[in-house]
Amino acid sequence: MRKTLVAANWKMHGTKAFAVELLEKLNSGLESGKCSAQVVICPPYPYLGVVADKMGQAELGAQNLSEQPSGAYTGEVSAEMLLDCGARYAIIGHSERRSLYGEGNELVAAKYAAAKAAGLIPILCVGESLEEREAGKTLQIVAEQIQAVIALGLPETWQNAVVAYEPVWAIGTGKTATPEQAQEVHQFIRQQLGEAGGATQILYGGSVKAANAEELFAKPDIDGALVGGASLKADEFTKICCAAN
Ligand code: PEP
Repeated sequence: MRKTLVAANWKMHGTKAFAVELLEKLNSGLESGKCSAQVVICPPYPYLGVVADKMGQAELGAQNLSEQPSGAYTGEVSAEMLLDCGARYAIIGHSERRSLYGEGNELVAAKYAAAKAAGLIPILCVGESLEEREAGKTLQIVAEQIQAVIALGLPETWQNAVVAYEPVWAIGTGKTATPEQAQEVHQFIRQQLGEAGGATQILYGGSVKAANAEELFAKPDIDGALVGGASLKADEFTKICCAAN
């Protein structure tokens, strides 16, 4: 039985004071709502420590990491450093990293390997652009993104790992994939993961809000959500987490 997981991607938003206030409200909301979901908060790097000190029932994640273990890589942050700061998860290959910072499938796979080697749980983001969807290439694109990780031949590739299906056209746009569209791709992803895929949590991401979380979570292969915009509003995010109850 896979537990519902809801992860917050705060992106590059807020201040230290904002992070503390948001987390305090979230902690009390999760407690009073008796939320049964696993909750992961991914703040900007500088606030990892502040958030780590106030986690409550939530767990800490990072939004990115370096594929390198250590060395002269100015501005980069390693998986070991994230663990050292209390993180347990790391988002890998978010579409903004892929499109704005040129992260291709190979680099994303190397980052996935770095997370796994250090004992961090990767949240591997995959998903197609609008153009790719309209060209009927959704499953092909997602398969290529997943195969790049499989090609590394890591031990137990999909154990202690999470996959997030995030159609690029749904991220930050207010356009959510229908539960049926998302389920179709989630089922396909699970097949791609092979035998271990039965236990791997597969999240949906793309304009998830309180109003659509429940119908998405009701689908058999949707095990939770990766949430951007709505994770910056304590009430809204708490409702999304509690939609799994
Ligand atoms: C995201 O950035 O991963 C995301 C899903 O954003 P939003 O919820 O704002 O669409």
